[in-house]
Amino acid sequence: MQTLEQEVVIGLEVHVQLNKLNTKLFCSCSTSYHEDEPNTHVCPVCLGLPGAMPVINKEAVKFAVKTALALNAEVQPFTVFDRKNYFYPDLPKGFQISQYDNPLALGGYVTIETDSGEKKITLKRIHMEEDPGKLSYKGSITTAKYSLIDYNRSGMPLLEIVTEPVMHSPKEAREFLNKLRIILEYLDVFDGSLEGAMRVDANISLKGGGRVEIKNISSFKGVERALTYEITRQKNLLRRGRKVERETRHFDEANNITVSLRTKEEEQDYRYFPEPDLVPIYTAEIVEEVKGQIPEMPEEKRDRFISQYGISLSKAKILVLDPKMADYFEEVASKVDSKKAARWIVDVLRGELNYRDKDFRYAYERFPPGDMVRVIEYLENEKITDKSAVEIIRTKLDHGGDVDGIIQEKNLFAIDEEEEILNLCRKAVEENPKAVEDYLSGKKNAINFLVGQVMKATKGRADPAECFQIIKKIIDEKN
Ligand SMILES: [Zn+2]
Repeated sequence: MQTLEQEVVIGLEVHVQLNKLNTKLFCSCSTSYHEDEPNTHVCPVCLGLPGAMPVINKEAVKFAVKTALALNAEVQPFTVFDRKNYFYPDLPKGFQISQYDNPLALGGYVTIETDSGEKKITLKRIHMEEDPGKLSYKGSITTAKYSLIDYNRSGMPLLEIVTEPVMHSPKEAREFLNKLRIILEYLDVFDGSLEGAMRVDANISLKGGGRVEIKNISSFKGVERALTYEITRQKNLLRRGRKVERETRHFDEANNITVSLRTKEEEQDYRYFPEPDLVPIYTAEIVEEVKGQIPEMPEEKRDRFISQYGISLSKAKILVLDPKMADYFEEVASKVDSKKAARWIVDVLRGELNYRDKDFRYAYERFPPGDMVRVIEYLENEKITDKSAVEIIRTKLDHGGDVDGIIQEKNLFAIDEEEEILNLCRKAVEENPKAVEDYLSGKKNAINFLVGQVMKATKGRADPAECFQIIKKIIDEKN
């Protein structure tokens, strides 16, 4: 019998903004528009005004080639831009500059972890294209009476990464996206925290049903939820003997459902043809140039952490999930015990950051590696307790300040217990001359009264037999 997992087939088209570039794909408008007013990062080229000529951003091609190589894809020696024609208000030219017959790269794969071990998600192709503008709706896309258009995003450099239909569950799709995001962040071509940085079209079909495309999902959680909803919807249709129509659907994030948008376009509807205003790109030189610029990838880093720092596989796996967290760890582990560093970073700091919905960029600001080194040193010297260390981390993340200042202010230095008990014993002797006299005159039990005083002061923490000996010694030495 086939399980549900085998009946579901999922493929993804991921649109990644190469938002670490300074300028757009075909003009010199700045890419850092996210904080600015709508329609302030525009020019005749990205507004698609008649006669405006696009010029390819060479850095964008380098970023794209670097990404393709890191995804194990074959960069094609010769690549061409095409016009993809369609009419939509976010696309003022009436066409999008994309790639069709001669994409930048073919093949490639991303390795993900599944419950049954590692799995290679194979890629079909990777191509470059420009981002359209952004439509906003008052309320929801299905009920709004009009749309607002912001062209700041128009002409942003995009990479479209298309997988083969090889995923079999929403969870696998989410794992793939997570891993892709990590690789892109390692390559430093992409900042996933920016709005619209990664958008996904998901194709899903069940055995015996038509292929449904869910367009423009903007969060990983959204992808997982949209696919889960579709599986249920399509299964119910098939179970009742109905057809699953081949169509495009929209994911309504607020209501957690997908809704039908239109029947799916066929490729011929787009009337692709080569973009006459751009020359083809021969990639050999760029490939040679960027080959050496690919940094250590997550799996290599994980293996190095294990051998170089002697930490466990499970800790190493987590540490490499975010390049900033990996850097943080290396800075701390170079100064203190690496296992303690891994434990405090993975189990405590990471948890505290997650709780605040922050990442390690925030840690660098509020609790930099030097602070962690200091806290771990204090722990090693038993100057503070684990509980106090957590309190220092929390206080710094929420209110700033410096480690020593917080320790003083909150009185967090652990008291040296031996010293404390010795002092309390001395005090008991000094404050109870009668008991001392009784003891000296032969009433050995009188010491028990003094021990009782110490027990009371320490709320029972002290060891009575030990106190007896200490007090005896103090009196004997005095007399
Ligand atoms: Zn522009």
